Amino acid sequence: MTGPDKKVADFRSDTVTRPTDEMRKAMAEAVVGDDVLGDDPTVLELERVAADIMGKEAALYVPSGTMGNSIAVKAWTQELDEVIVEERSHIYNMESTAITFISRVLPRPLVSDRGSMDPGLVEDNIKIPSVHMPRTSLICVENSHNNWSGSVLSLQNVKEIRDVADRYGIRIHMDGARIFNASHATGVPVKDYAACADSLMFCLSKGLSAPVGSLLVGPQDFIDYGRRLRKALGGGMRQVGVLAAAGLIALQKMTKRIKDDNRRARALAEKLTAHPGVVLDPEKVDTNIVIFGLDHPRYTIPDFLQALRERGVWALATRGGIRFVTHREVDDEDVALADRVFSELLS
Ligand SMILES: *Cc1c(COP(=O)(O)O)cnc(C)c1O
Repeated sequence: MTGPDKKVADFRSDTVTRPTDEMRKAMAEAVVGDDVLGDDPTVLELERVAADIMGKEAALYVPSGTMGNSIAVKAWTQELDEVIVEERSHIYNMESTAITFISRVLPRPLVSDRGSMDPGLVEDNIKIPSVHMPRTSLICVENSHNNWSGSVLSLQNVKEIRDVADRYGIRIHMDGARIFNASHATGVPVKDYAACADSLMFCLSKGLSAPVGSLLVGPQDFIDYGRRLRKALGGGMRQVGVLAAAGLIALQKMTKRIKDDNRRARALAEKLTAHPGVVLDPEKVDTNIVIFGLDHPRYTIPDFLQALRERGVWALATRGGIRFVTHREVDDEDVALADRVFSELLS
């Protein structure tokens, strides 16, 4: 069975989505080859489809989003460089120091308005290299923004940062782990976002429901070098068409339904905000991530999460409070269950 276990409403992450029956079948029947030798036809097709959807020359299938981001940072930078990142970004906070561990660059974290960095501030932080100072070679943006409760970047904001980058000959990498959530929220096609960045990474393993994998897209020479980096990092996989087959279905059939996750997250936020102690503005839930504070005399956050869990509602602690994520395996009944459990615990 690939359906959800209805005894649990699992709001921890959209990464918990299991492959659909159609994916399982495609995986079983996938035509495969040796992808490190470059001849797994299913991986090649996935990469071709991904590059096409994003309007880029080429794509690279990678085991994780973290590896995709790491390859991008490494490919666009040299040692002694500085990389502009948003202060709460995944690249800066959630990748076990990969940016320094792998690329040996200095991250320059900038404050933002819920993930949108001010282009003027970005420009002020660009350094011209000297004997004292690093060279700024890359700007990383995140869309949608995980740690800012799934907030989205406007196309205008990304274009203005692009203008700054162009004036200084600097690259932009977009961490678009959930780019389809962002695209549904703003109505901006994924291609238009991708056009503002030199490279973009997005995940198949989240709301798109594939079991494993992410894609990095960009110019051909960047992807060629990325392929060498992927091997160096231990990410060269052999008959990986068995996984890419699920990824193809994710890309071709699962992107449309992401709008349901966004809608359900807003509905969940509106329900949760009505309970005493929940500190949340539902208007600020753009996509499928709901992060809220808890200010309640009876509960610390760990105690509250434990009480939820005992009642079949699973969520995670995060910076700034508690995180609920909607995805293919939570439905309106799960939202209603969460609402009832919040009533029981908080009123
Ligand atoms: C999930 C995620 C990633 C990649 O995570 P992996 O677990 O390495 O696949 C990167 N960026 C953001 C914003 C994410 O949410």
